[in-house]
Amino acid sequence: MGEGRKARIRVFEVAARDGFQNEDVFIPTPTKIEFINKLSKASFSDIEVGSFVSARWIPQLADTPEVYEAIEKVPGVRYWTLVPNLKGFERAKAVGARWIAVFMSASESHNKKNVNRTVDQSLRELGEVIGEAKRSGFEVRAYLSTVFGCPYEGAVPVARVIRLSARLLEAGADLLSLGDTIGVADPGQVGELVDSLRTAGFPLERMALHFHDTRGTALANVLAGLQAGITSFDAALAGLGGCPYAPGASGNLATEDLLYMLHRMGYDTGVDLDRAADNGDYLQKVINRPLPGRYHAWHMAACRHRIHATTSTDQPGGDLSCRNSSSAPEKEPSSI
Ligand SMILES: [Zn+2]
Repeated sequence: MGEGRKARIRVFEVAARDGFQNEDVFIPTPTKIEFINKLSKASFSDIEVGSFVSARWIPQLADTPEVYEAIEKVPGVRYWTLVPNLKGFERAKAVGARWIAVFMSASESHNKKNVNRTVDQSLRELGEVIGEAKRSGFEVRAYLSTVFGCPYEGAVPVARVIRLSARLLEAGADLLSLGDTIGVADPGQVGELVDSLRTAGFPLERMALHFHDTRGTALANVLAGLQAGITSFDAALAGLGGCPYAPGASGNLATEDLLYMLHRMGYDTGVDLDRAADNGDYLQKVINRPLPGRYHAWHMAACRHRIHATTSTDQPGGDLSCRNSSSAPEKEPSSI
């Protein structure tokens, strides 16, 4: 692909679901609403908003109905929400959602641990949810987890990923997100999988990759996916996510890192990196601990020293303005 003719890249911002559900603190409802409204202002095209999984399993997102109803719905922005089953779908429908995501694992043991179903049971159940959602005019995204490795079984065969991806698309899913749930993938593996998908005739424009940066390979994996023809990626601001019970374990690929790399390479995402980075700063104040994103850490430091850096207009990111820093939560982070 020549210069100036690069594909538009679609970025799915997942901090307000994948990120929040992995935090052990409950983020107050008004804060969640404010954060998601800020994401809309940063011009994300696809924002994940909470989950309709039972509050018994994910208490951090128990307020999703209130959050979903209260956020500003900016025209042109798709507000996705996670649903586990038909009951969750009905609850999402009741708050006016039009975009849902369903989920299952590629490996048998992880699916059993995560949703207490066999892979075949999940395929049947999600098939019903997808069918019902499509009949109701929804757009449906399907997450397939543990595609690059399972914490219990190890390697996951490419043939298995291809078979399950085909089943989810046949069931009517519009989009598919293939997840490296435990952050084990390497760029070679990513390239091989995407090549296999293309060879098997899959519509790559409907497939996204979802990387975790647990072992530092997320951005390299994105590049491999990009070079193999993928044009959608999931990411969470400041790298929110990961397991709070495994100190030091990084979570999702940080959105700012992804945007910075893509923009520098000449790809258009439609997202305002300056505003996104300010949103990452806001998120860190809310979460009240240092978050792992690299661009995020640089941006936080640059903002702290902005009085001394006012002449640094030649910075590659060029965004020392920290425009939204005054709109951070007024309370001390420890009180929220
Ligand atoms: Zn994730």
